[in-house]
Amino acid sequence: MTCSVVGQPAGGAAARRGSVPTVPRPGRDRSLQDALRARREQASLLSLREVREREAARKRAEEEARERAEAERKAAGLVARQRETQEPVDRRTRLAPAVYAAVLALEPDVYFASSHWRRVARAQRAAAPECEVAACERRAQAVERLDGATAGEERPQHDLVSLCDRCRHRSRRAARSLGRPLTRAEATALDPAAPLYDREAIAELRARYDLA
Ligand SMILES: [Zn+2]
Repeated sequence: MTCSVVGQPAGGAAARRGSVPTVPRPGRDRSLQDALRARREQASLLSLREVREREAARKRAEEEARERAEAERKAAGLVARQRETQEPVDRRTRLAPAVYAAVLALEPDVYFASSHWRRVARAQRAAAPECEVAACERRAQAVERLDGATAGEERPQHDLVSLCDRCRHRSRRAARSLGRPLTRAEATALDPAAPLYDREAIAELRARYDLA
């Protein structure tokens, strides 16, 4: 009989014996090896790229940590001087955003006494003199920072919201439970009729002042 060919319709002697002779397929085998080699090369290229990316990320992180440490060191000095002189930390010169951020993290009161904050808060109050909570009609008494605001670079009416004292209290409580400042949508949707103090806060106050 003639040699069977791959793809030959079943029915020949080989098929009847239940096996098909293996026919060398040089072209297909080579392309398989090529494909495997290509995959190996691609894998090593990828890992090389990954190594470089990891190295770059590590250097970036180191650089950021250095800058943060430097900003924190500077902020600590400025806060100490502000306590002595009572002068705004940026009375003489504007600070870098990283230093403002470090002052805010270290001592919020000192940040809110800065020339920068007084200026942006004044601009915010001028632009929105009423409490911005939609259902509230009180006059604004405070300015709050919104989610995403960058210390030292807050933009009035974008990163800030004008609130009455009561709505500010509610906004701070909501921010504490969220673990972040409110967005503008969240702040303006606050309910001015909601109780000012929740049960937890009352329990805490009772415990602190030893009230039954
Ligand atoms: Zn209000």
